[in-house]
Amino acid sequence: MKVTEHIANGNGKTQFSFEILPPLKGQNIQSIFDSIDPLMEFNPPFIDVTYHREEYVYKEMENGLLQKQVVRKRPGTVGICAAIQNKYNVDAIPHILCGGFTKEDTENFLIDLDFLGIDNVMALRGDAVKTETYFTPDKEGHSYANGLVKQIDALNKGEYLDEEIQNQAKTDFCIGVAGYPEKHIEAPNMDSDIHFLKKKLKNGAAYIVTQMFFDNKKYFDFVEKCRSQGITTPIIPGLKPISTKKQLNMIPHRFNTELPEELIKEVLKCDDNGQIREVGIEWCVQQSKELIEAKVPFLHYYSMGKSDNIRAIAKQLF
Ligand code: FAD
Repeated sequence: MKVTEHIANGNGKTQFSFEILPPLKGQNIQSIFDSIDPLMEFNPPFIDVTYHREEYVYKEMENGLLQKQVVRKRPGTVGICAAIQNKYNVDAIPHILCGGFTKEDTENFLIDLDFLGIDNVMALRGDAVKTETYFTPDKEGHSYANGLVKQIDALNKGEYLDEEIQNQAKTDFCIGVAGYPEKHIEAPNMDSDIHFLKKKLKNGAAYIVTQMFFDNKKYFDFVEKCRSQGITTPIIPGLKPISTKKQLNMIPHRFNTELPEELIKEVLKCDDNGQIREVGIEWCVQQSKELIEAKVPFLHYYSMGKSDNIRAIAKQLF
Protein backbone atom coordinates (compact mmCIF):
# COMPACT_ATOMS: atom_id res chain seq x y z
CA MET A 1 0.00 0.00 0.00
CA LYS A 2 1.17 3.54 -0.67
CA VAL A 3 2.33 5.86 2.11
CA THR A 4 -0.38 8.33 1.10
CA GLU A 5 -2.99 5.57 1.57
CA HIS A 6 -1.55 4.70 4.98
CA ILE A 7 -1.88 8.37 5.93
CA ALA A 8 -5.51 8.43 4.76
CA ASN A 9 -6.22 5.22 6.71
CA GLY A 10 -4.81 6.82 9.87
CA ASN A 11 -7.88 9.11 10.00
CA GLY A 12 -5.87 11.90 11.59
CA LYS A 13 -4.16 9.64 14.15
CA THR A 14 -0.34 9.79 14.28
CA GLN A 15 1.24 6.47 13.27
CA PHE A 16 4.64 4.94 13.96
CA SER A 17 7.31 4.22 11.33
CA PHE A 18 11.05 3.86 11.32
CA GLU A 19 14.16 3.63 9.14
CA ILE A 20 16.84 0.95 9.23
CA LEU A 21 20.27 0.60 7.64
CA PRO A 22 21.37 -2.56 5.81
CA PRO A 23 23.94 -4.42 7.92
CA LEU A 24 27.63 -4.09 7.21
CA LYS A 25 28.80 -6.55 4.55
CA GLY A 26 29.64 -9.84 6.26
CA GLN A 27 26.67 -9.85 8.65
CA ASN A 28 23.57 -11.86 7.89
CA ILE A 29 19.96 -10.72 7.65
CA GLN A 30 19.17 -12.00 11.16
CA SER A 31 20.74 -8.82 12.56
CA ILE A 32 18.08 -6.84 10.67
CA PHE A 33 15.24 -9.01 11.93
CA ASP A 34 16.62 -8.70 15.47
CA SER A 35 16.38 -4.91 15.22
CA ILE A 36 12.89 -4.96 13.66
CA ASP A 37 11.25 -7.62 15.88
CA PRO A 38 11.09 -5.47 19.07
CA LEU A 39 9.36 -2.65 17.12
CA MET A 40 6.61 -4.66 15.43
CA GLU A 41 4.18 -4.43 18.36
CA PHE A 42 3.77 -0.71 17.56
CA ASN A 43 2.28 -1.62 14.15
CA PRO A 44 4.45 0.32 11.72
CA PRO A 45 2.62 0.42 8.36
CA PHE A 46 5.99 0.88 6.65
CA ILE A 47 9.73 0.58 7.28
CA ASP A 48 12.33 2.54 5.29
CA VAL A 49 15.60 0.91 4.25
CA THR A 50 18.48 3.26 3.43
CA TYR A 51 20.74 2.93 0.39
CA HIS A 52 24.51 3.24 0.69
CA ARG A 53 26.55 4.00 -2.36
CA GLU A 54 30.07 2.89 -3.10
CA GLU A 55 33.11 4.33 -1.37
CA TYR A 56 36.67 4.52 -2.62
CA VAL A 57 39.46 3.06 -0.50
CA TYR A 58 43.16 3.04 -1.24
CA LYS A 59 44.97 -0.25 -0.54
CA GLU A 60 48.76 -0.47 -0.41
CA MET A 61 50.19 -3.05 -2.80
CA GLU A 62 53.40 -5.08 -2.26
CA ASN A 63 55.39 -2.61 -4.41
CA GLY A 64 54.29 0.26 -2.15
CA LEU A 65 51.95 1.82 -4.69
CA LEU A 66 48.38 2.59 -3.72
CA GLN A 67 45.51 0.94 -5.56
CA LYS A 68 42.10 2.58 -5.66
CA GLN A 69 39.32 0.12 -4.89
CA VAL A 70 35.57 0.54 -4.96
CA VAL A 71 33.71 -0.96 -1.99
CA ARG A 72 30.11 -0.96 -0.86
CA LYS A 73 29.98 -1.52 2.86
CA ARG A 74 26.22 -1.84 3.23
CA PRO A 75 24.74 -3.53 0.16
CA GLY A 76 21.40 -5.33 0.23
CA THR A 77 18.70 -2.60 0.28
CA VAL A 78 16.43 -4.32 -2.24
CA GLY A 79 16.87 -7.80 -0.76
CA ILE A 80 16.12 -6.50 2.73
CA CYS A 81 12.97 -4.77 1.49
CA ALA A 82 11.75 -7.98 -0.12
CA ALA A 83 12.57 -9.95 3.06
CA ILE A 84 10.72 -7.42 5.26
CA GLN A 85 7.59 -7.50 3.10
CA ASN A 86 7.69 -11.29 3.06
CA LYS A 87 8.33 -11.81 6.79
CA TYR A 88 6.30 -9.03 8.40
CA ASN A 89 3.70 -8.22 5.76
CA VAL A 90 4.35 -4.46 6.07
CA ASP A 91 5.46 -2.10 3.32
CA ALA A 92 9.20 -1.69 2.93
CA ILE A 93 10.44 1.52 1.33
CA PRO A 94 13.80 1.35 -0.38
CA HIS A 95 15.79 4.54 -0.71
CA ILE A 96 17.14 5.18 -4.19
CA LEU A 97 19.91 7.63 -5.02
CA CYS A 98 21.14 9.71 -7.93
CA GLY A 99 24.74 9.12 -6.83
CA GLY A 100 26.38 6.10 -8.42
CA PHE A 101 23.41 5.38 -10.68
CA THR A 102 23.07 5.88 -14.42
CA LYS A 103 19.52 6.48 -15.62
CA GLU A 104 19.60 2.95 -17.04
CA ASP A 105 20.64 1.56 -13.60
CA THR A 106 17.75 3.51 -12.08
CA GLU A 107 15.25 2.11 -14.54
CA ASN A 108 16.42 -1.46 -13.91
CA PHE A 109 16.38 -0.90 -10.12
CA LEU A 110 12.78 0.33 -10.37
CA ILE A 111 11.78 -2.66 -12.49
CA ASP A 112 13.17 -4.97 -9.77
CA LEU A 113 11.18 -3.12 -7.12
CA ASP A 114 8.02 -3.27 -9.20
CA PHE A 115 8.40 -7.03 -9.74
CA LEU A 116 8.84 -7.47 -5.96
CA GLY A 117 5.56 -5.71 -5.24
CA ILE A 118 7.16 -2.66 -3.65
CA ASP A 119 4.78 0.32 -3.87
CA ASN A 120 6.87 3.19 -2.46
CA VAL A 121 10.33 4.63 -3.05
CA MET A 122 12.22 7.41 -1.32
CA ALA A 123 14.07 9.39 -4.01
CA LEU A 124 17.28 11.13 -2.92
CA ARG A 125 20.31 12.68 -4.46
CA GLY A 126 22.81 11.19 -1.98
CA ASP A 127 25.88 12.91 -0.56
CA ALA A 128 29.32 13.32 -2.07
CA VAL A 129 31.48 10.22 -1.69
CA LYS A 130 33.87 10.57 1.26
CA THR A 131 36.88 11.29 -0.94
CA GLU A 132 35.15 14.16 -2.78
CA THR A 133 34.15 17.62 -1.56
CA TYR A 134 31.10 18.04 -3.76
CA PHE A 135 28.50 15.64 -5.03
CA THR A 136 29.34 14.41 -8.52
CA PRO A 137 26.65 12.56 -10.44
CA ASP A 138 27.37 9.68 -12.75
CA LYS A 139 27.96 10.95 -16.31
CA GLU A 140 24.71 9.28 -17.35
CA GLY A 141 22.87 9.95 -14.08
CA HIS A 142 20.83 12.65 -12.35
CA SER A 143 22.43 15.68 -10.70
CA TYR A 144 19.53 16.35 -8.34
CA ALA A 145 16.69 14.39 -6.78
CA ASN A 146 14.12 16.29 -8.86
CA GLY A 147 15.45 14.59 -12.02
CA LEU A 148 15.24 11.21 -10.33
CA VAL A 149 11.65 11.89 -9.25
CA LYS A 150 10.81 12.83 -12.84
CA GLN A 151 12.22 9.54 -14.12
CA ILE A 152 10.22 7.51 -11.57
CA ASP A 153 7.09 9.46 -12.43
CA ALA A 154 7.70 8.84 -16.14
CA LEU A 155 7.94 5.09 -15.50
CA ASN A 156 4.64 5.35 -13.62
CA LYS A 157 3.24 6.60 -16.93
CA GLY A 158 4.86 3.76 -18.87
CA GLU A 159 7.60 5.98 -20.32
CA TYR A 160 10.87 4.03 -20.52
CA LEU A 161 14.27 5.41 -21.51
CA ASP A 162 14.12 3.45 -24.75
CA GLU A 163 10.98 4.74 -26.41
CA GLU A 164 10.89 1.70 -28.68
CA ILE A 165 10.35 -0.78 -25.86
CA GLN A 166 7.17 -2.75 -26.49
CA ASN A 167 4.46 -3.38 -23.88
CA GLN A 168 5.35 -0.29 -21.88
CA ALA A 169 3.98 -1.54 -18.54
CA LYS A 170 3.33 1.24 -16.06
CA THR A 171 4.74 1.11 -12.55
CA ASP A 172 2.78 2.69 -9.70
CA PHE A 173 5.27 4.01 -7.17
CA CYS A 174 4.36 6.49 -4.46
CA ILE A 175 7.40 8.76 -4.30
CA GLY A 176 8.79 10.27 -1.11
CA VAL A 177 11.45 13.00 -0.98
CA ALA A 178 13.61 14.66 1.66
CA GLY A 179 12.88 18.04 3.26
CA TYR A 180 15.12 20.05 5.57
CA PRO A 181 13.59 22.07 8.46
CA GLU A 182 16.99 23.73 8.95
CA LYS A 183 17.68 23.84 5.18
CA HIS A 184 20.00 21.56 3.27
CA ILE A 185 23.63 22.35 3.97
CA GLU A 186 24.37 23.34 0.36
CA ALA A 187 21.32 25.57 -0.07
CA PRO A 188 22.14 29.30 0.06
CA ASN A 189 18.92 29.97 2.01
CA MET A 190 15.63 28.39 2.98
CA ASP A 191 13.68 29.98 0.10
CA SER A 192 16.04 28.44 -2.42
CA ASP A 193 15.77 25.02 -0.74
CA ILE A 194 11.96 25.20 -0.73
CA HIS A 195 12.00 26.34 -4.36
CA PHE A 196 13.77 23.08 -5.31
CA LEU A 197 11.62 21.05 -2.92
CA LYS A 198 8.59 22.30 -4.84
CA LYS A 199 10.23 21.10 -8.04
CA LYS A 200 10.44 17.56 -6.62
CA LEU A 201 6.74 17.70 -5.76
CA LYS A 202 5.79 19.14 -9.16
CA ASN A 203 7.75 16.30 -10.78
CA GLY A 204 5.65 13.67 -8.99
CA ALA A 205 6.64 13.28 -5.33
CA ALA A 206 3.68 12.65 -3.02
CA TYR A 207 5.12 13.12 0.46
CA ILE A 208 8.09 14.59 2.32
CA VAL A 209 10.13 13.10 5.16
CA THR A 210 12.25 15.58 7.07
CA GLN A 211 15.83 15.47 8.14
CA MET A 212 16.17 14.89 11.88
CA PHE A 213 15.63 17.93 14.12
CA PHE A 214 15.77 18.38 17.90
CA ASP A 215 13.74 21.56 18.26
CA ASN A 216 10.12 21.21 17.17
CA LYS A 217 9.92 24.92 16.40
CA LYS A 218 12.19 24.30 13.39
CA TYR A 219 9.71 21.72 12.08
CA PHE A 220 6.64 23.88 12.72
CA ASP A 221 8.27 26.91 11.05
CA PHE A 222 9.31 24.78 8.08
CA VAL A 223 5.79 23.37 7.64
CA GLU A 224 4.33 26.87 7.87
CA LYS A 225 6.77 28.18 5.26
CA CYS A 226 6.04 25.25 2.95
CA ARG A 227 2.29 25.75 3.30
CA SER A 228 2.61 29.48 2.67
CA GLN A 229 4.42 28.65 -0.55
CA GLY A 230 1.67 26.34 -1.76
CA ILE A 231 3.02 22.95 -0.65
CA THR A 232 0.09 20.78 0.41
CA THR A 233 1.74 17.32 0.58
CA PRO A 234 2.17 15.54 3.94
CA ILE A 235 5.40 16.47 5.76
CA ILE A 236 6.46 13.57 7.98
CA PRO A 237 8.82 14.56 10.81
CA GLY A 238 11.99 12.48 11.21
CA LEU A 239 13.29 12.05 14.77
CA LYS A 240 16.39 10.55 16.28
CA PRO A 241 17.18 10.10 19.97
CA ILE A 242 20.70 11.11 21.00
CA SER A 243 22.56 8.18 22.58
CA THR A 244 26.27 9.06 22.76
CA LYS A 245 28.41 12.08 23.66
CA LYS A 246 30.14 11.83 20.28
CA GLN A 247 26.85 12.68 18.57
CA LEU A 248 26.97 16.21 20.04
CA ASN A 249 29.71 16.97 17.52
CA MET A 250 28.75 14.57 14.77
CA ILE A 251 25.04 15.40 14.32
CA PRO A 252 25.27 19.19 13.72
CA HIS A 253 28.19 18.69 11.34
CA ARG A 254 26.78 15.76 9.38
CA PHE A 255 23.10 16.66 9.26
CA ASN A 256 23.22 20.47 9.45
CA THR A 257 21.01 20.29 12.53
CA GLU A 258 21.30 22.56 15.54
CA LEU A 259 21.12 20.96 18.99
CA PRO A 260 19.21 23.02 21.59
CA GLU A 261 21.33 24.43 24.44
CA GLU A 262 19.22 22.64 27.02
CA LEU A 263 19.75 19.24 25.38
CA ILE A 264 23.51 19.82 25.16
CA LYS A 265 23.58 20.85 28.83
CA GLU A 266 21.72 17.69 29.89
CA VAL A 267 24.02 15.45 27.85
CA LEU A 268 27.16 17.10 29.24
CA LYS A 269 25.95 16.40 32.79
CA CYS A 270 25.96 12.63 32.07
CA ASP A 271 28.76 10.34 33.26
CA ASP A 272 28.32 7.63 30.64
CA ASN A 273 26.44 6.72 27.48
CA GLY A 274 23.83 4.83 29.52
CA GLN A 275 22.75 8.12 31.09
CA ILE A 276 22.95 9.93 27.74
CA ARG A 277 20.66 7.32 26.24
CA GLU A 278 18.07 8.11 28.93
CA VAL A 279 18.35 11.85 28.25
CA GLY A 280 17.95 11.18 24.51
CA ILE A 281 14.87 9.02 25.07
CA GLU A 282 13.21 11.60 27.33
CA TRP A 283 13.94 14.45 24.89
CA CYS A 284 12.57 12.47 21.97
CA VAL A 285 9.43 11.48 23.92
CA GLN A 286 8.71 15.15 24.68
CA GLN A 287 9.28 16.11 21.03
CA SER A 288 7.02 13.25 19.92
CA LYS A 289 4.20 14.20 22.31
CA GLU A 290 4.11 17.75 21.00
CA LEU A 291 4.15 16.53 17.40
CA ILE A 292 1.32 14.07 18.08
CA GLU A 293 -0.67 16.93 19.57
CA ALA A 294 -0.05 18.84 16.36
CA LYS A 295 -1.55 15.83 14.52
CA VAL A 296 1.43 14.92 12.34
CA PRO A 297 0.53 11.90 10.17
CA PHE A 298 3.53 9.81 11.16
CA LEU A 299 6.44 9.96 13.56
CA HIS A 300 9.34 8.50 11.63
CA TYR A 301 12.29 7.39 13.77
CA TYR A 302 15.86 7.02 12.55
CA SER A 303 16.85 3.79 14.29
CA MET A 304 20.31 3.55 12.72
CA GLY A 305 20.36 -0.15 13.55
CA LYS A 306 19.64 0.30 17.27
CA SER A 307 16.06 -0.42 18.22
CA ASP A 308 16.22 -0.47 22.05
CA ASN A 309 15.87 3.30 22.48
CA ILE A 310 13.22 3.58 19.74
CA ARG A 311 11.30 0.84 21.53
CA ALA A 312 11.54 2.69 24.83
CA ILE A 313 10.13 5.81 23.13
CA ALA A 314 7.39 4.03 21.19
CA LYS A 315 6.26 2.20 24.35
CA GLN A 316 5.34 5.55 25.89
CA LEU A 317 3.47 6.80 22.81
CA PHE A 318 1.90 4.11 20.64
P1 FAD B 1 18.22 17.38 -3.64
O1 FAD B 1 16.76 17.50 -3.48
O2 FAD B 1 18.74 17.09 -5.00
O3 FAD B 1 18.89 18.71 -3.07
C1 FAD B 1 20.29 18.80 -2.85
C2 FAD B 1 20.70 20.26 -2.81
O4 FAD B 1 20.65 20.82 -4.12
C3 FAD B 1 19.80 21.16 -1.95
O5 FAD B 1 20.60 22.15 -1.37
C4 FAD B 1 18.83 21.76 -2.95
O6 FAD B 1 18.32 23.01 -2.50
C5 FAD B 1 19.74 21.92 -4.18
N1 FAD B 1 19.08 21.78 -5.48
C6 FAD B 1 18.13 20.89 -5.82
N2 FAD B 1 17.86 21.01 -7.14
C7 FAD B 1 18.69 21.97 -7.64
C8 FAD B 1 18.90 22.52 -8.95
N3 FAD B 1 18.20 22.11 -10.00
N4 FAD B 1 19.85 23.48 -9.07
C9 FAD B 1 20.59 23.91 -8.00
N5 FAD B 1 20.41 23.41 -6.75
C10 FAD B 1 19.48 22.46 -6.58
N6 FAD B 1 21.56 9.56 1.83
C11 FAD B 1 21.99 8.35 1.40
O7 FAD B 1 23.09 8.23 0.89
N7 FAD B 1 21.20 7.23 1.54
C12 FAD B 1 19.97 7.28 2.11
O8 FAD B 1 19.30 6.26 2.21
C13 FAD B 1 19.50 8.55 2.58
N8 FAD B 1 18.27 8.67 3.15
C14 FAD B 1 17.82 9.91 3.54
C15 FAD B 1 16.52 10.04 4.07
C16 FAD B 1 16.04 11.28 4.48
C17 FAD B 1 14.64 11.40 5.03
C18 FAD B 1 16.87 12.43 4.38
C19 FAD B 1 16.37 13.76 4.85
C20 FAD B 1 18.16 12.32 3.85
C21 FAD B 1 18.64 11.05 3.41
N9 FAD B 1 19.91 10.91 2.85
C22 FAD B 1 20.34 9.68 2.42
C23 FAD B 1 20.80 12.08 2.72
C24 FAD B 1 20.61 12.81 1.37
O9 FAD B 1 21.03 11.99 0.32
C25 FAD B 1 21.47 14.09 1.45
O10 FAD B 1 20.93 14.99 2.38
C26 FAD B 1 21.78 14.76 0.13
O11 FAD B 1 22.86 15.68 0.34
C27 FAD B 1 20.63 15.56 -0.48
O12 FAD B 1 19.65 14.74 -0.95
P2 FAD B 1 18.26 15.34 -1.52
O13 FAD B 1 17.51 14.24 -2.10
O14 FAD B 1 17.62 16.19 -0.51
O15 FAD B 1 18.86 16.27 -2.70
